[in-house]
Amino acid sequence: MHILKGDMGDSFALTLKELSLKVTPKRLAILNILDEEPVYVSPEEIWEKMKERFARIGLPTVYRNLEELSMGGVITKVIHPNRQLYYYFCRNRRHHHHFICVSCRKVEDLDMCGIKGMEKSIEKTVRGKVLSHLVQINGLCNRCTEIKTGKGTI
Ligand SMILES: [Zn+2]
Ligand SMILES: [Zn+2]
Ligand SMILES: [Zn+2]
Repeated sequence: MHILKGDMGDSFALTLKELSLKVTPKRLAILNILDEEPVYVSPEEIWEKMKERFARIGLPTVYRNLEELSMGGVITKVIHPNRQLYYYFCRNRRHHHHFICVSCRKVEDLDMCGIKGMEKSIEKTVRGKVLSHLVQINGLCNRCTEIKTGKGTI
């Protein structure tokens, strides 16, 4: 069985506590797996790695834990244009959005939010109140763009 490194385990546990989520070995393991990935990962891929630590874990358990972590705001759900669902863990706790590469699955932080500035006019339009928003920018990263246009070397 894989043992979480002290520091890592502690900081993930703190993150969960801050978001009022119960700290469980499975949740910590999922965060540990996602944290090692610079790209967004599918539930099936996470399940494969979870099986190394929890021999009898089922895919529905992995789905449920991912959903709970995502609803709690710990991890980000990525909906790919191919309609497959992925997850991503970002250490940046400030409000920001992600540029996701649909080709190599790289994720880049966008430290800007155009929506906040639009909230007043949105509230006027709907005559209600804006509480939150989800933004995901899909595209091709710098490297994938160069490959597509034949400029780069693969
Ligand atoms: Zn890319
Ligand atoms: Zn981020
Ligand atoms: Zn925003």
